[in-house]
Amino acid sequence: MNLHEYQGKEVLSSFGVTIQRGIVAQTPDEAVAAAKKLTEETGTGWHVIKAQVHAGGRGKGGGVKLAKNLDEVKSIANDIIGMNLITPQTSAEGKKVHQVLVAEDVYYPGDSEPEEYYISVLLNRATGKNMVMYSTEGGMDIETVAEETPHLIFHEEIDPATGLLPFQARKIAFNLGLSGQAFKGMTRFVTALVKAYESSDSSMFEINPVLKTSDDKIIAVDAKVSIDDNALFRHKDYLAMRDLREENPVEVEAQAMGLNYVDLDGNVGCMVNGAGLAMATMDLIKQAGGEPANFLDVGGTADAERVEAAFKLILKDPAVKAILVNIFGGIVRCDRVAQGIVDAYKNMGTINVPIIVRLQGTNADIAKELIDNSGLDVQSAIEFQEAADKVQAVLA
Ligand code: GDP
Ligand code: MN
Repeated sequence: MNLHEYQGKEVLSSFGVTIQRGIVAQTPDEAVAAAKKLTEETGTGWHVIKAQVHAGGRGKGGGVKLAKNLDEVKSIANDIIGMNLITPQTSAEGKKVHQVLVAEDVYYPGDSEPEEYYISVLLNRATGKNMVMYSTEGGMDIETVAEETPHLIFHEEIDPATGLLPFQARKIAFNLGLSGQAFKGMTRFVTALVKAYESSDSSMFEINPVLKTSDDKIIAVDAKVSIDDNALFRHKDYLAMRDLREENPVEVEAQAMGLNYVDLDGNVGCMVNGAGLAMATMDLIKQAGGEPANFLDVGGTADAERVEAAFKLILKDPAVKAILVNIFGGIVRCDRVAQGIVDAYKNMGTINVPIIVRLQGTNADIAKELIDNSGLDVQSAIEFQEAADKVQAVLA
């Protein structure tokens, strides 16, 4: 589950990570009140107004702006709230902005220039260990850095038995070219960041940029925080931070019904039981010349109700030109599923896309008969290849 920047910063701060301070606002008036409060607390006269949406690159899209007085706070907040923010990480339509973070300006002039760094904490799947990934090239798109100057990205692996060791935190600060107060600040920052990552059961932290202020403080200016969904049951406070407006509505609906659904760009809807079979089915669709319109795992209990719910979800996507149902009857019997499909079809009235059903496993032959004799516009298949050929034929 992804958090907004302001929520991510709350999580970081609760574990002692130093952050750029800010207050979230839903209206321009709230933004002005927030700015006044920040001035009282921090003494800052300038503020940054930052769109809160689940997408990066907001600065490039005009979603992060500096306000030098309260009038500017109000007019900038007024511009950003309600805007459709388009960034390199959103779709072409962009994302609607419902709220802004009013934050203290931390790029103030001083003895030295502010410096931006990149720090993330994430799982290295190759080694099965968490790692700190960091770079002197902060504030930039890290994918670009990885492509053009990969030698400027460093990794520090964390041994799960010991956690991040003090020498590792010092090594990171050293490799970032820091010294003096900033060096000490960075070792504290990284240590707290890793602690926050582990304690919050996160699957990713990306802090870009981490800033060295002109008076050598180290702070998180941005925060991309993803909490591991599987751990949310023990973090009710984080679960309460979920913002459904930021998520795909069809996926939210599917989740409420206990279906694993991921929206994709293709033209063949698929309904499958089991994640592995779902992946194999998506490959099959590609081989047949189609593109999967979704990933959908209906799980072990493919009864009529679930099958109908799944059909409805798939049919919400106007790009769907055919539906492939691929179910293995292990625990659930194929004839039960077939009956579920027939019932669902009848309940829904007309379905205007061809449906190919492959049922394999217990009572597959009875299931095939049920479908073939139903009088409905549904084609049955038992073998994988047979199903693929039928998909290919309807797409042609
Ligand atoms: P992103 O574009 O979505 O990654 O949003 P960030 O939070 O990273 O902000 C984008 C950019 O805004 C940063 O890289 C900074 O250059 C700028 N920025 C953020 N906070 C401040 C601030 O306090 N003062 C000034 N002058 N610029 C800021
Ligand atoms: Mn950023």
